[in-house]
Amino acid sequence: MKSILITGGAGFIGSEVVRQFVVNHPDYKIVNLDALTYAGNLENLKPVENAANYNFEKADITDAAAINAVFEKHGITDVIHLAAESHVDRSITDPLAFVHTNVIGTVTLLEAAKKYWKEDYNKHLFYHISTDEVYGTLGAEGFFTEETSYDPHSPYSASKASSDHFVRAYYDTYGIQVVVSNCSNNYGPYHFPEKLIPLSINNIINHKPLPVYGDGKYTRDWLYVIDHASAIDLIFHKGKVGDTYNIGGFNEWQNIDLVKLLCKQMDEKLGREAGDSEKLITFVKDRPGHDKRYAIDATKLNKELGWYPSVTFEEGLSATIDWYLSNTEWLNNVTSGNYAKYYEQQY
Ligand code: NAD
Repeated sequence: MKSILITGGAGFIGSEVVRQFVVNHPDYKIVNLDALTYAGNLENLKPVENAANYNFEKADITDAAAINAVFEKHGITDVIHLAAESHVDRSITDPLAFVHTNVIGTVTLLEAAKKYWKEDYNKHLFYHISTDEVYGTLGAEGFFTEETSYDPHSPYSASKASSDHFVRAYYDTYGIQVVVSNCSNNYGPYHFPEKLIPLSINNIINHKPLPVYGDGKYTRDWLYVIDHASAIDLIFHKGKVGDTYNIGGFNEWQNIDLVKLLCKQMDEKLGREAGDSEKLITFVKDRPGHDKRYAIDATKLNKELGWYPSVTFEEGLSATIDWYLSNTEWLNNVTSGNYAKYYEQQY
């Protein structure tokens, strides 16, 4: 029986992966390991917390003794590694926290895999979840492919790039079976409202200014988190060991156009006059080292594994807004306390 350690399973993407794996693979033991930082929230696991195959371990991925204990207790056979410090703005103010969790934490997990799987590395898989931000920035044309050289610009992307290199180094050096995927920006339910889409939804609800960096022309490729998790499931089961897969929906939006679409959909849903929410848009000072454009070429995943997103951006965004409007308690809980302090400092 597989016993899968999913790290960061109380966060935004990790909790979607856990919810899907627990339901779709009742024959797997799922062990969600999370340190419950500001970004981790056990309320995200409510739909599966009583499932027979679901387990939770509160632990820090940099704590080798705790990780070893979890490997032993649960007989971990595979790892899907999502735990990370994930917010670029926070990495600019506290880069060492990103080195600690994203680099040292990843190597600590790899060391546990090396120790406990050594009898036969071929029976186990270490699947590392990463970001398209490791590739740096694009001009008006072109896409990131799996062959694009790494060129990270923020402390966040530099730490993720480093962790990707360590994962591949453990494959080359020790023969640990690994796979890496690099995904574009995610959006969807349970997203912590420090990121553009949930922050804007929350502010529109509360008639607060909508901060947009610089000239608003930064371009990002957006993917519905439910589709990211389904790609992770497919790559986990069918991906070629040692390979990298880019995950994206060929869905590029300039920030300003995205915020305007969000305003339009929210005005309709909230019964506000057309154009009401757009008045809240406020351009704010640019982020240092801000990458102009990210765009993922997901052809390899499309062709080799037959994966495609299940929804259009308009559909996914609409479903996301509906989720936030019907989960106000979740939103109020995560936006109280420390988040309020962070927001004050940031904007
Ligand atoms: P998130 O910030 O929502 O969640 C991260 C989770 O990791 C939280 O539950 C947190 O408590 C946990 N965590 C943080 N430090 C930890 C530590 N030291 N030990 C154990 N747990 C710890 O992040 P997310 O947006 O869900 O991203 C998940 C992964 O996907 C990350 O590796 C990120 O780099 C990657 N990714 C994210 C996006 C995106 O758009 N959000 C896109 C591509 C890749």
